[in-house]
Amino acid sequence: MTSSQNNRPTCLLSFDVEEMFQIEAARPYISPRLWDESEWRVGQAVEWILEELAKHDAHATFFLLGWVAERNRAVVRRIVEAGHEAACHGHAHERLHELSPESFRADLRRAKEIIEDITGQPVVGYRAPTFSLTRQTQWAVDVLIEEGFKYDSSVQPVRGHPQYGEPTAPVAPFQFTHSSGAPSLTELPPLTWKIGSLRLPVAGGGYFRALPLSFMRAGIRQAGRQDRPPVLYFHPWEFDVNQPRLPLPALAYWRTYIGLNRTRNRLTRLLKKINGIPLNHWLTQHDPIPASTFTFPANRAA
Ligand SMILES: [Zn+2]
Repeated sequence: MTSSQNNRPTCLLSFDVEEMFQIEAARPYISPRLWDESEWRVGQAVEWILEELAKHDAHATFFLLGWVAERNRAVVRRIVEAGHEAACHGHAHERLHELSPESFRADLRRAKEIIEDITGQPVVGYRAPTFSLTRQTQWAVDVLIEEGFKYDSSVQPVRGHPQYGEPTAPVAPFQFTHSSGAPSLTELPPLTWKIGSLRLPVAGGGYFRALPLSFMRAGIRQAGRQDRPPVLYFHPWEFDVNQPRLPLPALAYWRTYIGLNRTRNRLTRLLKKINGIPLNHWLTQHDPIPASTFTFPANRAA
């Protein structure tokens, strides 16, 4: 594990750039047909994040939706001009479970082309919407390799979540291999904090908002001791305090909005304690990475 001279732990920072109305919980209320008529707020939230990263001399990966990138071209340019990485979060935020290999390839190409057209730089990193790369959607690995991606950060090595997770996946970076044998794709799994046989997904999202920051920081310290990079993730909408609230059912409402009033302060506190770098930066430093290969178990019946 590399550390900066001030001895802060190095963390791989990432932001999944989507409008709040594009999250999975909002699907039943705002169909994609209404996205263009909805209020776009992600650009200003990204601007706040860019300022905060600059203040703390931190850098990050922005996993951009193609849909968002083509409507916020100036913001995407500012992201790369500030030294951050522009990576891909797909085009229309559809979970891989809802796509076929063909429609996934089309969604991926569309987003990658839009982002590369804006930045003039190759896109090499991918994160699936809702971490939906699982044993049911493992066909996506071949597509990612064939489309030129070098790394993925979509496999939560945990169990128990209805939408994502692969409990047999390693918690440290590993390689996926193309079904033809080679080449491979590096997986950078989001941070988990291992307590006995339990793996807590403390990398971001609801865990970042609902639990004290000490949970994430304990995970970061453990990852340092075990020489694996802590991959953290956030969403710009999680820092948009004044956003209009969607009429979600009680549990989804709680999960979505809990802790929103403290996230800005919390990110600032975190950035004072860590050395934030983009995911592709870590890969460059660890080429070839000393990582094991992993194959998903056979798809269980749905
Ligand atoms: Zn997303």
